[in-house]
Amino acid sequence: MTQLSTRLAAAAAGMLLALAIFSLPPSFAQAPAGGVVALTGARVINGTGAAPLEQATIVIANGSIQAVGPGSTVTIPAGATRVDMSGKTILPGLINAHGHLNADKSTRPIRDKLIGQLKIYADYGVTTVVVLGTGPNDLPDAVKLRDEQERGSLDRARVYAAGSSLTSIKTEEEARTKVNQFADAKADLIKMHITGGPNDTQPAVYRAIIDQAHKRGLRVAAHLFYLRDAKGLLDAGVDVIAHSIRDQDADAAVIAEIKRRNVGYIATLTRDLAVFVYETTPEFLKDPFFLRHVDSYSGDITQLNDPARQEKVRNSKEAQAIKQALQQANRNLKILSDAGVEIALGTDSGTNVGQWQGYFEHTELEMMVKAGLTPMQALVAATGGAARVMKLDGKLGTIQAGKKADLLVLNGNPLSDIRNTRQISSVWIDGRQLATTKTN
Ligand SMILES: [Zn+2]
Repeated sequence: MTQLSTRLAAAAAGMLLALAIFSLPPSFAQAPAGGVVALTGARVINGTGAAPLEQATIVIANGSIQAVGPGSTVTIPAGATRVDMSGKTILPGLINAHGHLNADKSTRPIRDKLIGQLKIYADYGVTTVVVLGTGPNDLPDAVKLRDEQERGSLDRARVYAAGSSLTSIKTEEEARTKVNQFADAKADLIKMHITGGPNDTQPAVYRAIIDQAHKRGLRVAAHLFYLRDAKGLLDAGVDVIAHSIRDQDADAAVIAEIKRRNVGYIATLTRDLAVFVYETTPEFLKDPFFLRHVDSYSGDITQLNDPARQEKVRNSKEAQAIKQALQQANRNLKILSDAGVEIALGTDSGTNVGQWQGYFEHTELEMMVKAGLTPMQALVAATGGAARVMKLDGKLGTIQAGKKADLLVLNGNPLSDIRNTRQISSVWIDGRQLATTKTN
């Protein structure tokens, strides 16, 4: 045990004994109800893009951040549980603005499947997942989990959810009916798909989707590929672009429209990676940080290592076309970021085999940096930016007074190497430390 975790365990055990409250795992550094925790001595990257604070103190009370600043300026309340975070870097917990919860194909109850996947995300420091398309029967359970998380004491990622993605909708009437069904079921937003194929929802119909969603107070995120579809959807009032424009450079007209309408852009690069990368066995399948959840998906790995499957990917026209499209996606991410468009991190993880929940959020960060973003820009996209794009910024995404204490504590500085987001020391949600898996 490290000195830190020993101290945490001792502090937690002491509090539990003193208060004789419910039996919690000893690795939870939970303060007593209403108790205050002060994290001291860390570098804090607050998720706004501001320069990091060194030797900072974060005061947490009732699951929220009460104060944050240089240690010399923050008063630690008497009786607070102090946790020495010297040498650590603290970021807001990561927000995946485009994830899914379809990876668990078992027959156990839907609620258990969703919780299991949200725990995996949390273990990787992804403390919030916006599900852009639930499985056909999953929305009621996802909404219930969303509502329950308002009560605090979470040991899994927060969830916000769209119903299943609206695809190939034929009539305006059907469009409005579907949107009403999801609004009645208390979805957080609407997701729709435009692929550029012959069965696409036509513009008059997607205008009805977006219009009806807005009438019901819901925003719309769209899957797209082509620049012309981005323009059509923007003209119809879409709120979030959930995949990259991948056929050509984003032009001045589309940039102006995205900015004028304050639309968020989610590049979702790892989705495209997953389409072609398993033409061979990628190195990352041996990464200890990847392998920490190997028990959850060993069947997937067997499938991905199958030489026949790999050959099929190598010979797939679609897969090879997506390899090129990813290069265009990288270019457009840089173009749009440079133009000042709000970028959010998203991955499409949890859809198909090989789209790893938790792990791919870290891969996405690395890919965003390779595409030309600075580590700070990528981290903002994964925290404050994602929160703004998903209208969660009232309580999530930054380390500021009044925000939820969802934190990712790292042993390395991701500003010097973005891969240091994988050096997870601990994950906190609602001001409580989770019992995370150790990689080493
Ligand atoms: Zn998706």
